[in-house]
Amino acid sequence: MQTTPKLLCVKNLKKYFPIKKNAPLSKKRQYVRAVEDVSLEIYKGETFALVGESGCGKSTLGRTVLQLLAPSGGEVLYYGTGQEINLAKCDKKRMRILRKELQIIFQDPYSSLNPRMTVGQIIGEGPVTHKYYAKGSEALKNYVLSVMEKCGLPSYAYGRYPHEFSGGQRQRICIARALALKPKFIVCDECVSALDVSIQSQILNLLQDLKEKEGLTYLFISHDLGVVRHIASRIAVMYLGEIVETGDSESIFENPLHPYTVALTSVAPVLPSAGKKEREKILLEGSMPNSVFPPKGCKFHTRCFMAEEICKRCVPPFVETEEGRFVRCHFAQMPTEEKRRIAQKRSEESEKKEEKVKICK
Ligand code: SF4
Repeated sequence: MQTTPKLLCVKNLKKYFPIKKNAPLSKKRQYVRAVEDVSLEIYKGETFALVGESGCGKSTLGRTVLQLLAPSGGEVLYYGTGQEINLAKCDKKRMRILRKELQIIFQDPYSSLNPRMTVGQIIGEGPVTHKYYAKGSEALKNYVLSVMEKCGLPSYAYGRYPHEFSGGQRQRICIARALALKPKFIVCDECVSALDVSIQSQILNLLQDLKEKEGLTYLFISHDLGVVRHIASRIAVMYLGEIVETGDSESIFENPLHPYTVALTSVAPVLPSAGKKEREKILLEGSMPNSVFPPKGCKFHTRCFMAEEICKRCVPPFVETEEGRFVRCHFAQMPTEEKRRIAQKRSEESEKKEEKVKICK
């Protein structure tokens, strides 16, 4: 039973991007359905991870939650101010005030920093805009230096430019820029994907540390389950714009119930120190279908190793298999081991088929 208060509640959120009509006389407008009817809750102080292959809609969902992209439908209820605010209905002025509480850290620390501004100016810009401090004041400088220290940046960085720093240090500058606004909620959008593995762990440790000390809540977006495993308390798995499974981190890794999660977690790295055996890898065939014309029935049926006739015809419901655990599959209740066995059998069958084809040739 979740007793921590909610910080965000996303209800039936949609984000469609219109595309050009192919035929000039065609009446029907077509859309890329990047986010389709997503509902989720994020609790205060947690790290909620959103995982899936690239192009599944994770980043679009993160940006739509923050209203950096206007939603095509649904609600984003924010409770950070002590009352319920539907961000999707806020006008620009209200959103500008709330923006300081709702921050984002982008993937690329190279392109997300203005090369003409010093580190001090970059981090101090937000507090000046939101009138925390006067521009050029000593108090502002002291505040920026204190934020830099929290983020592990040396004080000499204050007057230097972003190009003088490594990728990891630049990502620290991006984190400091977000932190300077005293946010409550931060979307970390693939924020360690562009960094070396050794630097990734330093940045993850910093995020973890700041979360505890500053009382932050994260929506951590990543395609890398190895990274997510160490930082997230709960996980939502996304496929073709939809959440297909959600639950606490340990259950998702140890007992995945959606065939897509079964496949994704089978290829996630296992630390030798964890004392666990490497699992048989389940490789999915094909690529993600076009989100303009998603498959009928279950959107995953074109790649699923368990697909049956019903999957092609009927949309599976999002069922709660146990408290806090939701799965979008007609066979949600089937045990994980059984699903792994089916995947193994299918892969052996397709290997045999391929061999036969080679012999015939
Ligand atoms: Fe696979 Fe069918 Fe479940 Fe979809 S509903 S994930 S196709 S078994």
